Amino acid sequence: MKKVFNNILLGRFLSVLGSFIILLFCFQTDEVYSTPIKNDTKNFPVKRPLNLFNLEESADTIFNLVQKVGAKPIANIKKTRLHKNENLSSALKRINFENFHIIKIIKTISELNEGSKIFSSLPVGMIIQYSNPSSLTGGALKLNYTKTKDIFVWQDINNNYQSQVFLRPTRNEETLVRGVIKNNLYISALNSGIPEKTLLEMISLLGFSVDFQREIRSGDSFEVIFTKEVDILSNLVIQTKPIKYVSISLSGNKLNFFNYEDKFGFPQYYDENGKSSKRTIMKTPINGARLSSRYGNRKHPILGYTKMHRGLDFAAPSGTPVFAAGDGIIEKAGWNGSYGKYIRIRHTGTYKTAYAHLSGFHKNVRSGKRVSQGKIIGYVGTTGRSTGPHLHYEVIKNNVQVNPMRIKLPAGKNISKEDINSYKNHVQKILNQKIALEKSNQNKKIAINNHNISKILVLN
Ligand SMILES: [Zn+2]
Repeated sequence: MKKVFNNILLGRFLSVLGSFIILLFCFQTDEVYSTPIKNDTKNFPVKRPLNLFNLEESADTIFNLVQKVGAKPIANIKKTRLHKNENLSSALKRINFENFHIIKIIKTISELNEGSKIFSSLPVGMIIQYSNPSSLTGGALKLNYTKTKDIFVWQDINNNYQSQVFLRPTRNEETLVRGVIKNNLYISALNSGIPEKTLLEMISLLGFSVDFQREIRSGDSFEVIFTKEVDILSNLVIQTKPIKYVSISLSGNKLNFFNYEDKFGFPQYYDENGKSSKRTIMKTPINGARLSSRYGNRKHPILGYTKMHRGLDFAAPSGTPVFAAGDGIIEKAGWNGSYGKYIRIRHTGTYKTAYAHLSGFHKNVRSGKRVSQGKIIGYVGTTGRSTGPHLHYEVIKNNVQVNPMRIKLPAGKNISKEDINSYKNHVQKILNQKIALEKSNQNKKIAINNHNISKILVLN
């Protein structure tokens, strides 16, 4: 827990530090707003204001802007949020702007490039910072209307309202997060600072190989590298890019996956040898057999009436080997009523496969054991309610049998021989980056230890 706290603290501290550096940079190079903004600047590309000394989302930002553009001085700055069922006009009314001012404010905003679109897209809960106009002071507003944009409105010395959209300053941060799982991957990962979107990506990509319900043990660990775009003013993560690398250690078994974009630019994941993260389930877990009964309604050969056949039958001589249709854990291996000798494998949280009427089990097959795709698990037989030697094979999705011929599982294409060298170089680059990030995380820890923690907290 303490470690997590330190990491968060560390992250914040570095963000703040980074912000100062970027701000200094902005301050030295950005001269666009050293002269008052005139109406005709509205068509210029959106630029950031120079008023970013103070990282807090505070009154100072409007105040600095007002000074910079030579606007009418403002009074106290107050803060409210846009309520449900409110538009900007009614919100301004609520915070004591007179109609006369509201009309002018709406007009100047509607003249912006994004114009009337702005009014329909103001989010409920949006922070409105404002200063009420009076005979001596000007009215001013700051609306944090999207994650990345602020609208400033101010009154010039001629009492006219002006407005401008500003981009909030952001930076990209390469991030390595490591964590140990306490009870639950989800909670442990969130606690270690992985954004939820990244965590969901992680779960869907590991989901082919890991059964999160049953396979995770306390003390298992994970690490993930991703890029996040951070708002310098608020320090909030605006968005994250697709995971670059993820690794999970399950009772000592380590699974690593690397992002390697396909030719369309979509992220695909492979292990260090170029094997796809996507695991498929074989539709025919037996060699040289004949499909003797399909999935669907049929007249039952023993019971004599029409019954739904919820699997595939493969006719084959007794003793023909049966393979595990995919990587997974054996959930049951034993007698199961009319199924006779029966094996069920759990592949993921979603998919299982079952094999019935076997004559016997492979010697390594026991419930709770891990099997990999293509390994022999048992032998064709005619145990249970069966008329002759065959394999009855079922694919079970969320505990309901589905037609094995119809399931659409991802193809799980591996890296081709032609691409394997460039893929391995790519993997090496990511691993080098991982080492660099480990070092920098280590340095952050040292930095934090050399500082008075209460001072750092004040920065936030
Ligand atoms: Zn059958």
